[in-house]
Amino acid sequence: MSIFRDHEIDTREPRCPKCGNAVVWILHNSKHGAKTSTHCTKHFTQSRIDFNPKTDFFCLWRGVAKRAKSGKVEFFDTDGKTRLKKR
Ligand SMILES: [Zn+2]
Repeated sequence: MSIFRDHEIDTREPRCPKCGNAVVWILHNSKHGAKTSTHCTKHFTQSRIDFNPKTDFFCLWRGVAKRAKSGKVEFFDTDGKTRLKKR
């Protein structure tokens, strides 16, 4: 039994189902059922000053982040039902 087991599980991040990059969200509401939108780190709202159109790309995927009963945030695809896979 490893005391690090829970920690290892928690470090897996939800990934964009389209391009596999990490997703970003802001959810200040800690109430169960609170919802916000989430999008890919390759979304144009996340564009960086070092963006290089020759080597980089935009991903327009958007999803849903919901607060679960446990207080953790759960991630869903654009339909709000399909859970995102974590890696
Ligand atoms: Zn993406």
